[in-house]
Amino acid sequence: SSFEDIELGPELAANVRRCKYSKPTPVQRYSIPIGLAGRDLMACAQTGSGKTAAFCFPVIAQILKSGEQPTGRSRKAFPLALVLSPTRELSSQIHEESRKFAYQTGLRSVVVYGGAPVVNQLREMEKGCDLLVATPGRLSDLIERARVSLSRVQYLALDEADRMLDMGFEPQIRRIVEQEDMPRTGQRQTLMFSATFPKEIQRLAADFMHNYIFLAV
Ligand code: AMP
Repeated sequence: SSFEDIELGPELAANVRRCKYSKPTPVQRYSIPIGLAGRDLMACAQTGSGKTAAFCFPVIAQILKSGEQPTGRSRKAFPLALVLSPTRELSSQIHEESRKFAYQTGLRSVVVYGGAPVVNQLREMEKGCDLLVATPGRLSDLIERARVSLSRVQYLALDEADRMLDMGFEPQIRRIVEQEDMPRTGQRQTLMFSATFPKEIQRLAADFMHNYIFLAV
């Protein structure tokens, strides 16, 4: 099995070749086709398993295929895809990876997290923000300041969901996902990743997803 066997579209396929990934990791092998089919997904996978590509590839491939126009310069961001992740470090890593995957596609990826000045993050968002990678606290703040609208979010990914709950982010996550202008379950695609699948994550999965596929690798 190789990435060439997966329908990623010409631009993303070229970027994957540039990354020099030899073959899909197990979580990628199963998650990417499920994602490309438009299904909601709950995947149990560890750190280092290649999760980032597992949710970025189907999201980027589908946006490019849909012919959706990149948002361009705007004071308020209207991301097409939102990735929630627990920490600054993880968010930065996801952002770096997503930039490689979105290279020369016209799609811009931006990262926002707490504990750093908001001005630089706002400036980056204003240049165009198609993929937004965010920690829940900073994103809540930016929504409150009306600098981000979730009304165009077609793809939602939650990375390390169990860790986000351990860190006490459940109220913020629920407020974000249940925002009035956020497309409802069934009108967006939701991809959740978690190392473990306890009751609280099962509840979140049931609340945020429609008819989801459960994958354990
Ligand atoms: P992740 O679990 O997404 O944080 O990925 C862990 C590391 O593995 C990152 O440095 C990726 O660039 C790398 N990686 C992801 N997928 C592959 C792959 N299919 N082949 C080789 N390396 C990969």
